[in-house]
Amino acid sequence: MIYDRLTTRYTFACPEHGDTRVALSRFRRLERLPGAAKPAVFRVDFECGCGEEHPGLVTHAELDWAPLGLGTGDSFLNLMTARLEELEAELADLAATRIGAGEWPWSFFCYPESRPRPVFPSAFFLLAPGSPGRTIGLAVRCPACGNVSVNLVSRGHVDLPFHNDGAIGVVEHVFEADALRTIEAFCTELHSASFDARRLLL
Ligand SMILES: [Zn+2]
Ligand SMILES: [Zn+2]
Repeated sequence: MIYDRLTTRYTFACPEHGDTRVALSRFRRLERLPGAAKPAVFRVDFECGCGEEHPGLVTHAELDWAPLGLGTGDSFLNLMTARLEELEAELADLAATRIGAGEWPWSFFCYPESRPRPVFPSAFFLLAPGSPGRTIGLAVRCPACGNVSVNLVSRGHVDLPFHNDGAIGVVEHVFEADALRTIEAFCTELHSASFDARRLLL
């Protein structure tokens, strides 16, 4: 289990420091590995505290379900105490209730469809610091229409489930499927694009 709900951090290996803990907003690139369908595994490049980028692996469940307290298969290992299992069950119930009430754990603004959409982190594929520095540029492949949108959001919008920014920046551009193949191309786009503010009212 590499995701810790209390700190909302993922644990990865750093060649300098051994274990390091990073929030989702420190991920830079996510790529679903071909094959190995069950469970799906994503290769992640993350920006480490040491200043370098390192690769890591996360399962689909760790990416999309663990932040919600939903079972990731290995969260009910025997080493867990009964109390922790209860707590996890409560958290999962809470997440299910909120989703059932129409709250979205994560959302983005789909530019081609001109509407906000619910999304899970596995649909994020490039992230980079935007300007101003507190923001994150986020490339999302829309689960509904398959098109790519680039949003400018807060770190909390990415890191904290059910924290949706009231308004976000949207690049007014329809991207070709392979336009944002590299993080370099993405950063160039982020810093040259103009963002239009859109409300993410749900
Ligand atoms: Zn490092
Ligand atoms: Zn869409």
